[in-house]
Amino acid sequence: MGEWAFYGIVILLLVALIKLVPYKVFRYSHRFVPVVYLVLVFHSVILIDHAMWATPLGVALALLMLAGSYAALVSIFGRIGAGRRVSGEIAEMRNYPGVRSLETVIRLGKGWQGHQAGQFAFVTSNVVEGAHPYTIASAWSPEEPLVTFVSKELGDHTTGLIDRLKLGQKVTVEGPYGRFTFDDGLPRQIWVGAGIGITPFLARLKEMATVSPDEARPEIDLFHTTREVDEAALERIAEDARAAKVRLHLLIDARDGQLTGQRIRDEIGDWREASLWFCGPSKFGAALRTDFAAQGFPTDERFHQELFEMR
Ligand SMILES: Cc1cc2nc3c(=O)[nH]c(=O)nc-3n(C[C@H](O)[C@H](O)[C@H](O)COP(=O)(O)OP(=O)(O)OC[C@H]3O[C@@H](n4cnc5c(N)ncnc54)[C@H](O)[C@@H]3O)c2cc1C
Repeated sequence: MGEWAFYGIVILLLVALIKLVPYKVFRYSHRFVPVVYLVLVFHSVILIDHAMWATPLGVALALLMLAGSYAALVSIFGRIGAGRRVSGEIAEMRNYPGVRSLETVIRLGKGWQGHQAGQFAFVTSNVVEGAHPYTIASAWSPEEPLVTFVSKELGDHTTGLIDRLKLGQKVTVEGPYGRFTFDDGLPRQIWVGAGIGITPFLARLKEMATVSPDEARPEIDLFHTTREVDEAALERIAEDARAAKVRLHLLIDARDGQLTGQRIRDEIGDWREASLWFCGPSKFGAALRTDFAAQGFPTDERFHQELFEMR
């Protein structure tokens, strides 16, 4: 059992780490990890010499295996995140065909603890398909328990979602998760939202629009770069930026070319005092980080990147 379980876990870990295996295969295969783990625990308990349990190593092993077995059972019984799961109902849908994106507003049932701008949640609209993560694109208000998501057609589930979702449909929302929450206390921030990576900034813009003018707020420049264009979507972003008193720099690839670190620095004289918040394609984020690091910008502390990737 031990030998076969060991081979099994190696294969499962390779499937998880090698991104060539499609996400759907990974998602199902990953469910076997806790089962194999329990087999390995059983194997160890049977084989370990009884006298060893009383040694410091035995105690450490016992504690690790107990904690691991508890976690494995929580996973097998589908209880991960169960305390953060609430049901909801689709209240509004708006389509932005120019950017192949759908805005969905969900009215949440009881149990949602609120969220900070920039956090994300898992949404299940179809039990067989399972949960997909999306950034919450709205600010939280306990008086009106609504959350907005904007999802782009990036694969088989998200494509054609507009035709499959219905107003009034029940969904499950699990969250909030994530630490891309803008709360670094710095008086200067630069935001870069590339394509659908604009979503965490939409939430923060909505939140900032409700802050009283007397309250201290950072000075912010938002760069939104996009390849595709939807006038209605761009108009809404511009409106939200105006309401939040955030300077918006819009760059449409075909018209303005690509955004680089140098272009940001040319626009923002005091960039050295700022923190940089990035959400968008991971390679773009990595290129900006390297570029800013080369200029002596303390990227470890002040470059924040949200990854739209689970592995
Ligand atoms: C923290 C986070 C926040 C995100 N926020 C947004 C957002 O605001 N708007 C938006 O349009 N997209 C967002 N995404 C991306 C979105 O989750 C994927 O585009 C979507 O799940 C793709 O599903 P698909 O079946 O259509 O595509 P597929 O072609 O099946 O997958 C495309 C890629 O999406 C990822 N993916 C697929 N299914 C899942 C899943 N169940 N869970 C996690 N990742 C998956 C995989 O990396 C896969 O390679 C976010 C992702 C993460 C991790």
